[in-house]
Amino acid sequence: MAEMNHQILLASRPSGAVQPANFRLVEVPLAPLADGQVRVRNHYLSLDPYMRGRMNDSKSYAAPQPLDAVMIGGTAGEIVESRNPAWTVGTKVVGMAGWQEFATSDGTGMQRVDDSHVPLSAYLGPVGMPGVTAWYGLNRICTPKAGETVVVSAASGAVGSVVGQLAKQKGCRVVGIAGGSAKCSYVVDELGFDACLDYKAGAIDAALRDAAPDGVDGYFDNVGGAILDSVMLAMNAFGRIAVCGAIAGYDGEPLVMRRPTLILQSRLKIEGFIVSEHMGDWPAALGELGGLVAKGTLKYRESVAEGLARAPEAFIGLLKGRNFGKQLVKLI
Ligand code: NDP
Repeated sequence: MAEMNHQILLASRPSGAVQPANFRLVEVPLAPLADGQVRVRNHYLSLDPYMRGRMNDSKSYAAPQPLDAVMIGGTAGEIVESRNPAWTVGTKVVGMAGWQEFATSDGTGMQRVDDSHVPLSAYLGPVGMPGVTAWYGLNRICTPKAGETVVVSAASGAVGSVVGQLAKQKGCRVVGIAGGSAKCSYVVDELGFDACLDYKAGAIDAALRDAAPDGVDGYFDNVGGAILDSVMLAMNAFGRIAVCGAIAGYDGEPLVMRRPTLILQSRLKIEGFIVSEHMGDWPAALGELGGLVAKGTLKYRESVAEGLARAPEAFIGLLKGRNFGKQLVKLI
């Protein structure tokens, strides 16, 4: 009897917050491989905030996730069967196989990775798309110099944790913003940020003035809304804001901006970016990030849900801040 694959499909589009019923778990038999194909057993699935936008049927920088198709997603796994001489059994690979246990591929879009010094799962976090996102927004948009102050929101997360550590390594004062005292303690005590503000404890305007007494030169914005608004008030003249994400508005919540005239008054540079549109920077970024993780000088934390069936719940939790570090699903 054929081996079975489990997949999670998008069953319906959410209106407002994502619900478990927006997903459907299915079991399908694995077809025999054709010539040129390989079978990948996915060990890890990456859950990322961008998936929320793909669930909507609206105009964006990327096409919507089709209904009744396997949910899009980054994966890390291992080739378990091959009818393609370029890919040998046992090779560790990363790709975009989606929310499923096995993938069948001709190798297009798959990349070999070496897990001897960097754990396989890290290729979905600090040495993968989130790490490159941090590297790009910090180096190309915030462009911080030693002695400057950098602020980053969602500071304990996959992107924010890398932003802050890279900025510290450049000699900056680094202030994180995160939800809750546990995340803030981790950001300061484990990651080495100079300060961290818990936005759930109340408005951050006054705390930010204390934590950044010389003002803010670079802000890496992962959340938008009220937090972006508060940081804008603290920006120095000619400050740079990398607009990476706006998770506070992904379920359709309105995002306010109290003082848009600050953009002119403080001569701010505010630039949004999509990391997949800057592929030329990926090799240098991944080389640097991989080296730092291998040496242990770039720390990271993971939230790991066990089993594909837990993916919807873990994804809903990610959008509500229940993850602590990079959200992964460990598959079979
Ligand atoms: P994280 O690992 O940081 O997880 C998301 C975090 O967002 C949660 O843990 C939570 O942290 C925070 N959050 C959730 N809701 C809110 C809210 N309403 N207000 C403030 N914070 C909130 O995710 P990633 O590191 O993977 O992604 C961070 C951001 O970067 C996202 O906005 C994502 O869309 C964006 N991104 C953009 C890319 C690009 O190319 N532009 C590429 C990759 C990511 P807390 O508990 O601290 O609130």
